[in-house]
Order: sequence, then structure tokens, then C-alpha cells
Amino acid sequence: MSKPVRVRIAPSPTGDPHVGTAYIALFNYAFAKKSGGKFVLRIEDTDRTRSTPESEAAILRALSWVGLKWDEGPDVGGPYGPYRQSERAAIYAEHAKMLVDKGAAYACFCTEGRLEALRAAQRAEKKPPGYDGLCRKIEKAEAAKKIAAGEKHVLRLAMPKEGDTVFKDGLRGDVSFQNALIDDQVLLKSDGFPTYHLANVVDDHLMEITHVVRAEEWISSTPKHVQLYRAFGWEPPEFLHMPLLRNADKSKISKRKNPVSLDYYRDAGYLPEALLNFLGLMGFSFGGDREKFTLPEMIEAFDWAKVSLGGPVFDLEKLSWLNGLYIRELTPAQLIDRLRAWRFSDQAMAQMVPLVHERIRRLDEFIPNTDFFFAGDLDYKHAMKDLIPKERSAADTAKALSELADALDPLQTWTPVALEPVVRAFSEQIKWQTKELFMAIRVALTARTAAPPLFDTMQVVGKELSRRRLRMCAVALKAYRPQP
Ligand code: GLU
Repeated sequence: MSKPVRVRIAPSPTGDPHVGTAYIALFNYAFAKKSGGKFVLRIEDTDRTRSTPESEAAILRALSWVGLKWDEGPDVGGPYGPYRQSERAAIYAEHAKMLVDKGAAYACFCTEGRLEALRAAQRAEKKPPGYDGLCRKIEKAEAAKKIAAGEKHVLRLAMPKEGDTVFKDGLRGDVSFQNALIDDQVLLKSDGFPTYHLANVVDDHLMEITHVVRAEEWISSTPKHVQLYRAFGWEPPEFLHMPLLRNADKSKISKRKNPVSLDYYRDAGYLPEALLNFLGLMGFSFGGDREKFTLPEMIEAFDWAKVSLGGPVFDLEKLSWLNGLYIRELTPAQLIDRLRAWRFSDQAMAQMVPLVHERIRRLDEFIPNTDFFFAGDLDYKHAMKDLIPKERSAADTAKALSELADALDPLQTWTPVALEPVVRAFSEQIKWQTKELFMAIRVALTARTAAPPLFDTMQVVGKELSRRRLRMCAVALKAYRPQP
């Protein structure tokens, strides 16, 4: 009898909740539900410098918003916990030691300086980068002595150097990698923390994951994982690598060309069920030209044979069309609920009202004074002159706004207190007066010159819509030809 299906998504909490995470989660979820299996959420936070609790919380919140409920995870617990890798360090260290004992991993004492020189030499000789295996030659007893003496080291996988690693991908058939081209991957860093490869394999095994369904970009890691499974003497799970979402020009989806944060889709007024349908369409076909299917319908019809590998293009126009179909199916009462949850909640009102309280004389002035809080993209045609500071060109302003959108990307707390120093530092960096930059941002965010205090406005507009408006305003500026 085959084992009960257990699948997982394993996001790294290093930024905003990515639309690609929801896409991969959807296929894992649909497969789990179709097979009566379990869908697990594991947080891969082994990169201590980049992982943050804010990002983890945002990922959990965003995945709950799209409606993909996990059966086990760091918040709901489960029999295979902990589900956060930072809480499993001892497990990885113990497993790394098992590999050293078996001779499948070795300690490497090379300094950062030596590795840097090695990389430089490889670059100069146009050779692929990779570790040259110097420490692989150290006798085990000698290495043990150095470790006992407290010498700084990492543990590396002793990749076989001959032959190929072949594995079956459930969507592509046999995939083969030449071993000689695969690096002796670091498994355990000098701080005792594992790398992605070790933690991922150990956890997938211990959590009894039967199918690893992940994005295509991980396919080149899979031969390393297969070698790790072999070294441990474990049976590997099945691997299925989903095609990457693409921009219209077929490049891998990127935030420069498409909004990638799930929060953007929520804030811009997309319904989660329409977004799921759209993400489903990216890789799954019902057959014929049927494009609208709900999550239960997708689960019902789910079959890997219906998953295609063609690079699915992320087309926002199509998403809006699909969203319209879902909106029209709502009853008026349901639509009212959706609108409330979106921008008309008591909480949203409580944020907006103080910003215009002093500015309105009659209630009817509330809407014209706050319309930009309810809008998606804005029209800047009439505002171009105010947008471009006197001493600057349209091109400079466009550059400043799009660079600012990038500079704000890492911010995970979107409050006036967090925003102000970053924006001020940015204006210093580009040598603009703050008042020039503030005005340009104000116009980009509101399409007007008189608006509530800037940072409060940014907070209410929200991170993703604010950054999108900065970018869209830069696009408008680039196309702008002033009348002589
Ligand atoms: N932590 C990896 C990520 O961020 C997981 C990849 C995998 O599913 O193995 O996507």
C-alpha cells in the first residue's frame, strides 16, 4: 500500500509574501486534498541574516487570505514539529555528524580569503565556480583533531565526482546531472546552522513528505538532495518541479515588471478566489477553453497529467477579467462584506478619518479628500508639473521615484516612524532637498499636491500600493513629453 500523501510548502521568511508561494502552495494543496493527504507549512528560516518574524507573520497572513489552509505548521502545530527550522538546529547538527561518520561529508577549514581567491582564479580562467576539494583530502582523524582544537570549519557534502545523478521528475521524466559539475555543497555553516540543502532533505524525510512539489528554479538543487538521501540511506520523495511564472516578455516573474507581493493583490481589490483560479490556470488545464474554476472544482479534477510545463505568463489584465466574473457572482450582501473587509472596515476608517478630520467642512467633502485611499493606479496627466521639481527633469524624477520604490522594499514595518528616516536618508543620498522629494512622493501617491501628512498617507495606502504608485508614476514620467 502506498504511503499517505504528505506535501509541503517551505517558504523562507525573507521578504514580502510572494505570489509564487501561493502558486506552489495551490498545487500542493489541490494534490493533497484530492489524495486525502496532508498539506504542511514549514518555515525555512536557516538564513539568520535575512529571515525575520515579520516576514513569517506576513506569509502566514497572506496564505490565510488566499484561503489555503495548512494541516500542520508552526502556528497550528502537528505531530512532526517543530515546523520552524530555526528550532531544529540540533536535529541538523546530529544528521550532519551522521554523514561525516559515513564518509559522505567532510570538514572544510578553508578561510573566506582562500575561497575568494579560488573564485577569482576560476573566473579568470572562465571555469565554473566551485570548491576544489582541498580539505576533502584531509584524513578523518586529522580533521577530528582540528575540530577538537576549535578550528573554524564548515561541513561539505562529498559529491561523487564520476557519473551522473538521475532522478525522476513527475512532470518531466528522467532528469540527469553530471556529477563532476556539482559542487561539494556546504551542509553545515561554521555557526552550526544548516544550509537549505541539508535542512530541507532532513526535514522532508523526518516529516515523511511523499512528494516535493516546488518551483522549477530548485531543480538544480535536486541532484544534491538525491545524493543526500542516498548518503543517509533514505528513500527520496517524488519530485515535481512546477514551471515558473513569467512576465509578458517570458522572463521569470519579477517585481520590476509585475507586482509579486500577495499583499498587493489584496490591497488592489482582487478576490482571493479569483487569484487562486488565475494561479491555477497558470499550470493546470481543465481541457477545452474553460478558464473559470473554483478551488473545489480544481481539487475535484486535479491530476498531474493536466499540469502543463509551458512557461505561464502572468497577465494582470486577464486576472482583472477573471476577478470581474467572481465579483458579478457575489450577491449584493456578499459584495458589501468584501468591500467592508477591503477598505471600508471600522479599522480602515479609523486610520483615514483622523487624516482628513481637520480638512473637511461638510461630510460630503470626505470622499473627494480621500479618494486616493480607495483607488488603484492613479492618473498623473494633470499633475505632471507639480510632480517634477523645478530644478529637475522628468527623467530624474522618474529615476528617483523608482529607486525609492526599491529602497522601500526591504521595510517590513510600514509606519510613519519607520518610513520617515528611510525617505530622508534617500533624499540625502540622491542629493535632493527633502521638500522636492516629499512633493514628488505626495503627488505619486495621491495625484494631488494638497493631501494629508505624507507618511501617514503612505501608511494608509499601504506598502504594496504605495510602491506600485511610485513605480507607475515613474512610468508615466518616462512617457511624459512637456508641451514647449
Ligand atoms: N525554502 C525554499 C523556498 O524558499 C524551499 C524550496 C523547496 O520547496 O524545497 O522556496
